[in-house]
Amino acid sequence: MRCPFCKENDDKVIDSRESTDAFVIRRRRECLSCGRRVTTYERIEETPLRVVKKDGTRIPFERRKILIGLMKACEKRPVPSEMLEEITQKIEDYVTERYDREVPSKVIGNLVMRELRRVDQVAYVRFASVYRAFQDVEDFEEVAEELRRRPPRKREAAAPGGGAAAGGPAGGDGEEAPGDGPEPASP
Ligand SMILES: [Zn+2]
Repeated sequence: MRCPFCKENDDKVIDSRESTDAFVIRRRRECLSCGRRVTTYERIEETPLRVVKKDGTRIPFERRKILIGLMKACEKRPVPSEMLEEITQKIEDYVTERYDREVPSKVIGNLVMRELRRVDQVAYVRFASVYRAFQDVEDFEEVAEELRRRPPRKREAAAPGGGAAAGGPAGGDGEEAPGDGPEPASP
């Protein structure tokens, strides 16, 4: 550590002790060049993980957002909540293990898609279509918000009126379609 007085980078620790709460270590150092003493405090670094959006802005990583996104995508789908919790945990673990301080939002979005695909095809398509539409913004929150605002409705177009009035291009219930093509266009 560089001495604040003589700027030499040569010192020895002469005393080291934990503070009362044990989260901080106080060290007494002596400069070997000029002999002056300084005290340093060492504490656990709490740099929260941040998500880097495509436009370069940073927002704090929040697992809550992942869970909410998953819940929206799985609305009215036979996917138990514990599973969504598990996926969220898995993604959080993955991200915090591999990324030190910042993680691209794209990484998280792709992880969510990968997990959803495994769990529920419909939820996957729902999420993917909205997510891809937002990729410019890459804001996870907006994906969740969009999913909330437009709760995915399936065969409802065919339900009332009896007429095959404004049938979408999907022509009925593409709900369980195994392919991962784009979601049937909804108004
Ligand atoms: Zn010095």
